[in-house]
Amino acid sequence: MPTSRGASVRPLSYARVDRVDDAIALVSSEPNGAFLAGGTTEIDLIRLDVERPELLVDINAIPLREIDDLPDGGIRIGALARMTDVARTPAVADRFPAVSQALLLGASEQLRNMASMGGNLRQRVRCSYFRDGVSPCNKREPGTGCAALEGFNRGHAILGVSEHCIATHPSDVAVALVAFGAVVHTSGPEGERRIAIDDFYLVPADTPDVEHPLDHGELIVAIELPAAPIARHSIYLKYRDRQSYEFALVSVAAAVRAEDGVVAEVRLALGGVGTKPWRAHAAEARLVGSPATAESFASAAAEELRPAVVREHNAFKVALAERAIVRGLTQAMNGGPR
Ligand SMILES: Cc1cc2nc3c(=O)[nH]c(=O)nc-3n(C[C@H](O)[C@H](O)[C@H](O)COP(=O)(O)OP(=O)(O)OC[C@H]3O[C@@H](n4cnc5c(N)ncnc54)[C@H](O)[C@@H]3O)c2cc1C
Ligand code: SF4
Repeated sequence: MPTSRGASVRPLSYARVDRVDDAIALVSSEPNGAFLAGGTTEIDLIRLDVERPELLVDINAIPLREIDDLPDGGIRIGALARMTDVARTPAVADRFPAVSQALLLGASEQLRNMASMGGNLRQRVRCSYFRDGVSPCNKREPGTGCAALEGFNRGHAILGVSEHCIATHPSDVAVALVAFGAVVHTSGPEGERRIAIDDFYLVPADTPDVEHPLDHGELIVAIELPAAPIARHSIYLKYRDRQSYEFALVSVAAAVRAEDGVVAEVRLALGGVGTKPWRAHAAEARLVGSPATAESFASAAAEELRPAVVREHNAFKVALAERAIVRGLTQAMNGGPR
């Protein structure tokens, strides 16, 4: 319907549910239906006319906010737990400090009080060409091209890129969750699933519009952090253009266990450089069995960054990521931030 200023008004229905099954049934029944949690991503994108749902199903009344200790030392986080609550839960801060730090370094206090963990995992990219609603963007409108390839790509990815999309995934906490092999629990029209978080995020390849393996109407119900004693001395470092309210140019989640000066176990993941939260598999493989020294860390970092594909404005990320990895591993080995 046109308005007095000539803009069109799109009809949008709203429903509030308090049961998982109802949420799934409602969103599944409407091809343009979407879940609404804290709304800090979804409402922004509707206002920008980038997302155009016809039905919003508000899931906030579903009892999915619990943060539970698991018998083996792991933690199960309900999908509707708020970022602030998760970050400040003693079990998370003690056993997975990198998860807690990543949450507290994201967004702002007000946003963290609103934003849910499930919504955080499913937040969309911050690429300005995606969000402006008009530039060529294969993620927003498949087949239109990618304005970032030759545009201002300072914040864009250098790992996992394709000629169709180079946007980074913006979540901080997902980087820490990837480092510790979290598992995403879902419930959907086809039943329940457990998805390893490394498989939850997809690189763009030639379908950048497909970001995750969820079916339409499939709800994230929880995120499980399996027990990981190494995570007790983990660290999350975030490098960005200003100290707060800013997304990462490069971030690192790291944990190291050394025995007799040799790396026995290591977890390493990167943010701000990959098209998905980036588990540094190549660096981890090189490090195990190597001396736990800055030289080994630097050589593992170079190995991880070797496949980087840089563009006009983001080449600096290679050196920044390499230095961040060395610092993250060194600080994690020494027991925390310095
Ligand atoms: C100004 C600003 C700065 C920010 N800075 C950072 C930052 O530095 N670091 C960072 O990590 N994040 C940052 N964010 C992103 C913020 O963390 C996310 O917007 C937030 O976590 C999304 O959660 P939500 O509950 O509001 O999700 P919503 O906006 O309600 O939903 C987001 C998406 O997830 C879907 N969804 C929600 N819940 C579920 C579920 N349970 N199952 C399946 N799908 C679901 C929705 O349908 C929607 O597509 C920032 C956001 C803003 C606005
Ligand atoms: S980088 Fe991805 S999100 Fe950004 S314009 Fe290109 S296709 Fe769109």
